[in-house]
Amino acid sequence: MSAAAPEASAAQPPQAPHAAPPPRVAFIAGWGRSGSTLLGLALGQLPRAVFVGEVRDIWTRGLVENRLCGCGQAFWSCEFWTAVGDAAFGGWGRLDLDRALRLRGAVDRPWNQPLLRPRRRLPLPPGAGQYRRLLGRLYQAIGEVSGADVVVDSSKIATHAHLLRQAGIPVQAVHLVRDPRGVAYSWRKTVLRPDGTAGQGYLARYGPVAAGLRYLAYNAMAEDLARCGVEELTVRYEDLVADPARSLGEVAAFLQLALQDDLLVSLARGRLGPKPTHTVDGNPLRLRAHQAITLAGDEEWRKGLPKRERITVTGITFPLLARYGYRGDSQGAAGRGAASGGPAPATAGATRVLNVCSSGGHLVQLLKLRPWWGEMDRLWVTFPGAATESLLQGERIVPAHHPTTRNIPNAIRNGLLAVKVIRSYRPDLVVSTGAGVAFPFFLVAKVLGIRTIYLEVYDRIERPTVTGRLCYPISDLFLLQWEEQRRYYRRGQVIGAVL
Ligand SMILES: [Zn+2]
Repeated sequence: MSAAAPEASAAQPPQAPHAAPPPRVAFIAGWGRSGSTLLGLALGQLPRAVFVGEVRDIWTRGLVENRLCGCGQAFWSCEFWTAVGDAAFGGWGRLDLDRALRLRGAVDRPWNQPLLRPRRRLPLPPGAGQYRRLLGRLYQAIGEVSGADVVVDSSKIATHAHLLRQAGIPVQAVHLVRDPRGVAYSWRKTVLRPDGTAGQGYLARYGPVAAGLRYLAYNAMAEDLARCGVEELTVRYEDLVADPARSLGEVAAFLQLALQDDLLVSLARGRLGPKPTHTVDGNPLRLRAHQAITLAGDEEWRKGLPKRERITVTGITFPLLARYGYRGDSQGAAGRGAASGGPAPATAGATRVLNVCSSGGHLVQLLKLRPWWGEMDRLWVTFPGAATESLLQGERIVPAHHPTTRNIPNAIRNGLLAVKVIRSYRPDLVVSTGAGVAFPFFLVAKVLGIRTIYLEVYDRIERPTVTGRLCYPISDLFLLQWEEQRRYYRRGQVIGAVL
């Protein structure tokens, strides 16, 4: 089975010289609420594979909180995990748990640049080597106790996969994606955790903006694994539930595992299992692995997600939405080739974005967001001139009145223009990088209940811009290019420099 192992990673395996080679890890990458537990349970049915849930959080979910294992026993009472603790550390009691928690917190943060950008050779956080050794022993023990060749881990967060590779563990990534509207709908629900052994709790929740931004970030980091040399296969949740035999067949081939006939027959009937599993964290579905599970798509969001939230999520996640073959229209039906080319008249159902900015640097920065607005129906409001015309060739432009600095008559004219343009174009979103011309448009959008996104400019770090300060309280989403800009805009989201 070793033939499927990706190329050797740079780091040396941390195991003792006599130890068997570490198991391969099939790492389910992406973001939560995308069906990773379901995919993990399905992959766990393949011969020579074992599904163990989200091992990244074993220290908290298992050892500290003693949550229920997928087998129904509390973590500390589960035979499988007890045997893993014995094999890895001579018993969990001999592991310095505080140190493990500290290392996990210090090293495996989702945004850790030295881990995410291995080619830049940035200094790793202190403790990275110790944490890698800990993970090496843990996964080695999971391999030994389960006897499996492939450990299916649904941890999803890309930094964990990088750490495993650096620990000398061969990693293959299965990037699982789902329609972001379905993901966002799931994150907004209140879900009771059924796996607690000491009182009940609830799963985390996110609103549409937070969910949309996280969807972009976590999936981008998952995609990046391939660029860092990890073998990667992308699977859509919708395809998995629509045709499980075919999807699982592709993943099994990718992992070089056989898909046995009885499993194929079961998948073709849309059923899975039963197969008891020992999983440390994940969707509550994992507690039902001892029963047969019906593979059915969860499409509740199509009716349940309010229109405004759907527009917000569609707008934020558009670059990936199109790439993964989900449509930006209100039906949200999956299908490739949704992207359109140049400007077109307003398309019924398409997300409409009104880009408002001054000419010059503000316009250049808004142009840099082309991967995002390029797929939408859009209209521009900016200052006319030769430079604008050349930069916005082929785009639809409404000329704004200028100059705007300390110019009350032009502010009034632009206010009237905002009412006229917004009422006739009826955008779903108004987006701006400033300057002065943005404010009347944001004000009118606010009054009419239209969502607004403001991007603070690249070159102002020492103090906030006047327009930024004016638009901040009425923006639905306020984006920053530098961490330092958060001093003035506390609920701002840092997206990094666009230039
Ligand atoms: Zn168990």
